[in-house]
Amino acid sequence: MEPDPASPYRFRVPKPNYLPHNVDADEPDEVFNKPLDRPGDFENAHYFSKVKRLAHDIGITKPKGYNVTFHYNPNMERHHFGQTHPMKPWRLTLTKSLVTSYGMNFAMDNYTARTATYEELTNFHTNDYVDFLATVAPQPTPLDVDNMHPDLKFNLGGSDCPLFEGLYDYCSMSAGSSLDAARKICSKQADIAIAWGGGLHHAKKSEASGFCYINDIVLAILQLLRVHPRVLYIDIDVHHGDGVEEAFLSTDRVMTVSFHKYDPNTFFPGTGALDDNGPRSEHNPGSHHALNIPLNDGITDEQYKWLFESVISKCVEKFRPAAIALQCGADSLAGDRLGKFNLLVEGHSSCVEYCKKLGIPMIMFGGGGYTPRNVARAWAYETAVAIGQHKNIPHQIPEHTPWRERFRHETLLPTIEQILGEPRQNRNPQKKLQDIVQHVTEQLRFVSHAPSVQYQVIPPDLGPIRDEVEQRLKEEAELHDDNARKLREEAMGVPMEM
Ligand SMILES: [Zn+2]
Repeated sequence: MEPDPASPYRFRVPKPNYLPHNVDADEPDEVFNKPLDRPGDFENAHYFSKVKRLAHDIGITKPKGYNVTFHYNPNMERHHFGQTHPMKPWRLTLTKSLVTSYGMNFAMDNYTARTATYEELTNFHTNDYVDFLATVAPQPTPLDVDNMHPDLKFNLGGSDCPLFEGLYDYCSMSAGSSLDAARKICSKQADIAIAWGGGLHHAKKSEASGFCYINDIVLAILQLLRVHPRVLYIDIDVHHGDGVEEAFLSTDRVMTVSFHKYDPNTFFPGTGALDDNGPRSEHNPGSHHALNIPLNDGITDEQYKWLFESVISKCVEKFRPAAIALQCGADSLAGDRLGKFNLLVEGHSSCVEYCKKLGIPMIMFGGGGYTPRNVARAWAYETAVAIGQHKNIPHQIPEHTPWRERFRHETLLPTIEQILGEPRQNRNPQKKLQDIVQHVTEQLRFVSHAPSVQYQVIPPDLGPIRDEVEQRLKEEAELHDDNARKLREEAMGVPMEM
């Protein structure tokens, strides 16, 4: 195929599969494939009395001077992509289980996320694509990519993006939690908003990709742009955040920075080289506003932390973001089924800690992560970072934690030896990392912030802030307002109010 000169990338290499042929499983598949039971543990008075006591002992209270909101839809857990597919939405159950067992919910406003509306999904995605997602019949068995049913399109139905039962609901729930988080940031009711069910960074305008169907991050950033002149998107998933980068490629109001494993031939999605920095034309406002940090297997906590802080401090200094969207994909952790870094929870969460210290309103999204117990540990610990309790919580996982046996190790912070036995070979020489920082510094020379000018280029198609959808949601919320306030104070999770 001839390269398309209008394409954001100079050329597109054929995309490697997201799923490698031999998934690096470290335990028998049955353990991964059995969905969690859903006992009434969270409603159990006995359980809650233990949680309350622990929270009291640790001293978990609302943080002083800022507010954290938590957006979660328990119905997401019910879906699964198929028995052998590594994406297990019950990793969200495990995360919530840890967060709640430590009593972290007492430090946050907890919202049961709603589903995103059709209108909201089509703020970014095409109507054709969303219509197709909403109506296509589930395919019990993923199809062979070379032998696709002619009626299937938009990259759907293969092994990476199977058509499972309830797919559209699942996507709307994921997007809904991220949109709720964005709205809380916009209304200044949250300084940090957490949406672990979001973070699906590969989805394109009209194409599913790498387990992602709807790009909730793009939808959330579009919300942020209604009130924030510049948004910094940071992605620490092991895969390149290509969908978000592409969506905002031609604007200087969003800077995207992705840290990822890069290997154009064998590692999904094959994009995100160091010198891919947005459109080549200097006349395009988006040029130099996409930064890519390509890494190799085996990077350590120390290196990652150094690189992250070196790069992000420079980006913040030059770009002056008014809000941060942080994708916390947990497949960059050691022991992931797909990723091959040596990162521990400490290293991964140091990125969250660094961003929090900047004092800029922030959404924390989930993302990849295919060893559920590792995902849950990292996102629970990062929730603790958000509420300022990570130094206080005991590392021993509380005895009353539901599905505690699923964590294999009793600690929230297992060592590399516990996770992998031997660390993976580190293929990231320090010199290479220094060159990356050097390159980023050079790119940032071209970036300037000019708020008065940039405010005028708010994309007109975003619509007025108080549009019909928001009005309807507000009316719905008012119906159970009193009840909701009461529940929220008890930190049990309530429907989002506007
Ligand atoms: Zn990933």
